Amino acid sequence: SDSEDHVFKVILLGEHGVGKSSLARIFGGVEDLHDVEEAGNTYDRSVVVDGEEACLLVFDIWEQPVLVWFQDNTHWLHNQCMKMGDAYVIVYSVTDKASFEKASELRIQLRRARQSEDIPIILVGNKSDLVRSREVSVEEGRACAVVFDCKFIETSAALHHNVKDLFEGIVRQIRLRKDSK
Ligand code: GDP
Ligand code: MG
Repeated sequence: SDSEDHVFKVILLGEHGVGKSSLARIFGGVEDLHDVEEAGNTYDRSVVVDGEEACLLVFDIWEQPVLVWFQDNTHWLHNQCMKMGDAYVIVYSVTDKASFEKASELRIQLRRARQSEDIPIILVGNKSDLVRSREVSVEEGRACAVVFDCKFIETSAALHHNVKDLFEGIVRQIRLRKDSK
């Protein structure tokens, strides 16, 4: 339907602890749930970008274990995530080199899952406020994004730095692709 055309599904990917839930909660405007150990969540919000409204449905479900008949269905969940998104946010922590390497792996997995599609992907280096424990430089992040042909931004969920820009950037990326079709 027409209204569904304006709802964009955005999936957050990345290692445990990099800040996916923190970024999603800021987007959803529900930060008071700060210390709640929640399961996966979705956040539905409309944002006005460049004078035009867009509705984003942000999925923070990458780590939610789905138990079916006592079997761990993480593999199934991850496959679903790779299939269902209109756009992807791949998050790593600038204080955790391993999470940066994992981000590259996820980018490759995503490319494999959505081969001929040109889906917006944003690589996000979160925790930019933790200056003294930084393990991944801005240059490394930017270079990785060039190699993987995606956008790049550094954020700090703790300071709310660049979080708005991140989600606005996603909307712009989705629109650019729609307009070129
Ligand atoms: P997730 O496992 O990817 O969902 O990560 P969370 O959002 O649960 O964050 C993991 C931990 O990192 C929590 O203690 C957060 O408060 C903290 N955290 C998240 N983002 C930032 C950030 O930008 N700066 C700092 N200093 N801490 C952060
Ligand atoms: Mg989380």
